[in-house]
Amino acid sequence: MTAVSGRVNTLYYDPESCINCGMCIAVCPHAVFAAGEKAVRLVRAEDCMECGACQRNCPSFAIVVDSGVGCAAAMISAALKGKPMSEGTCECGGSDCC
Ligand code: SF4
Ligand code: SF4
Repeated sequence: MTAVSGRVNTLYYDPESCINCGMCIAVCPHAVFAAGEKAVRLVRAEDCMECGACQRNCPSFAIVVDSGVGCAAAMISAALKGKPMSEGTCECGGSDCC
């Protein structure tokens, strides 16, 4: 499994395991992956909001992301509680992803 260089989130992608089905491209709301010749390419890792959709839809377990700690989890949690997201809810470090 290859770690994302300079990573700012928990996203891991292993191109060796990718079968190029394109599901991650289809489900990712932030265009983190792009088409490649033999495997998809991780092109915008820093934009990953850790929603977990790519991992759940990857048939070859080429993607691992901790979807319980990021902005998506914080937004869902805030929505369920009927409250606005407050500072410190998300662990993205204050970037503009949430
Ligand atoms: S976890 Fe969500 S935002 Fe991040 S790469 Fe996967 S689908 Fe895209
Ligand atoms: S969903 Fe998994 S196997 Fe399919 S293209 Fe993305 S990384 Fe590769």
